[in-house]
Amino acid sequence: MYNDITKFIHTLYGTDELVPLHVPVFLGNEKKYLNECIDTTFVSSVGKFVDRFEEMIAEYTGAKKTVVCVNGTSALHIALILVGVEREDEVITQALTFIATCNAIRYIGAHPVFIDVDRDTMGLSPVAVEKWLLANAEIKNGVCYNKTTGRRIKACVPMHTFGHPVHLDELVSVCEKYYIELVEDAAESLGSFYKGKHTGTFGKVGAISFNGNKTITTGGGGALLFHDEKLAKQAKHLTTQAKVNHKWEFIHDQIGYNYRMPNVNAALGFAQMEKLDVILANKRETADQYKKFFEEQADIEFFEEPKECKSNYWLNVILLKDKNAQQEFIEYTNEHGVMTRPVWCLMNKLDMFKDCQTDDLKNTSWFEERVVNIPSSVRI
Ligand SMILES: *Cc1c(COP(=O)(O)O)cnc(C)c1O
Repeated sequence: MYNDITKFIHTLYGTDELVPLHVPVFLGNEKKYLNECIDTTFVSSVGKFVDRFEEMIAEYTGAKKTVVCVNGTSALHIALILVGVEREDEVITQALTFIATCNAIRYIGAHPVFIDVDRDTMGLSPVAVEKWLLANAEIKNGVCYNKTTGRRIKACVPMHTFGHPVHLDELVSVCEKYYIELVEDAAESLGSFYKGKHTGTFGKVGAISFNGNKTITTGGGGALLFHDEKLAKQAKHLTTQAKVNHKWEFIHDQIGYNYRMPNVNAALGFAQMEKLDVILANKRETADQYKKFFEEQADIEFFEEPKECKSNYWLNVILLKDKNAQQEFIEYTNEHGVMTRPVWCLMNKLDMFKDCQTDDLKNTSWFEERVVNIPSSVRI
C-alpha cells in the first residue's frame, strides 16, 4: 500500500537496491589529504589539518574560534563544563533528542529537565521553557534555582532536530532573563542558519558532530564554536589533558581530557568542508523533490524548514497523519528496500532519565508517534 512511496524513493536514488538512510560521500580531496598525513607521518594530534579545519569551520559558521575534538558527545561534555555546569546542577533540554545530549549532562553528574518542543521546529520551545520556569524557578542573587528540588538551573541545551533551527532569538532572551547559560547542541545542524546566522553561534558555546551519518564526516569527530576566545583557549587546554605548554616538561594544571581530534580525521574533515556547499545544495534538492511528492499524498506531511531559517535537511522527516500507521509504514518500507526509522525513544522513557522532571511534553509525544525519517544521503 506504500508502493508508490518506495517506488518514488528508488527512482530518486536511481537504484533497485536498498536505499540507506544516510551514507557519507567523498567527492573531493579526501584521499589526497589522507595520503599527505601518512607521507608526512602527521597522523595524530599534531598537524596542519587540525588548524586548517578549525579555521575553516570558524570562517563558515561565523564563530570567532573553533576547537575540534574526538566526537560531538565530547564537544557537548566540554561545552557544559566550560559554561560552569557542576554536579547536582540542572540542565534544561528536550526529551526529543539523541542520547548524547543527556549523556553529556550526566557525565558531569548534572540532571536534565525535559521541556516540550515546538510544532514548527521539532526543537526546544522557548514558550514552554518560559512557562516551566515561571512555575518552577526562582532567582536568588542572579542564580536560577528549581523551587522543588532546590538545585541550581545552570544551562539550557536546545537541539536543532534533524537540522531544523529552534526559535533562537526567543530562547536567548528567556535564558538571559533567568540567568541560564545557553549551549546549542548543533550536532545535526552544520549548514543550518537562523535569520542568516549559523546555528551553534547563538549560545555561549555550540557543539557540532562529524559522525559518519552526519552532513559531513571526519569518521568520528566534533567541534566547539565560540565567540569568546578565552573560552576557546580553555577548551583547547581541557581537551589536551590540561597540559601546560612547555618544550619538555609534563605539567598539567587540572583534570583534563584526551579529546583532541587527530590530524587524519581533520584531513578528512577539511576535504569534506571544501564540498559542503555542493552537499547542502544536493540535499536541498532532495528535500524539494520529497516536498513536491508528498504534497500529493493525503495521509503524509513533509516537514519543512521553519520560517526565517535555512535548514541543512540533514535527515528528511515525514509526519504520518494517522499515528497508528507509523509501525506499518516503517515495516513496509524497510521490507521493500527503503530504510526508514522512527524518531529516538524519548529520553524521559529511558531508565537512566525516567525520574527527571518534565513538563507535559505534549508536542514531543505528538512527534514521537508520527515522525518517520526517510533516506537523505547525497545523490550522486
Ligand atoms: C550525533 C549527535 C551528537 C553527537 O554525536 P557523536 O556521535 O558523539 O559525534 C550529539 N547530539 C545529537 C543530537 C546528535 O545527533
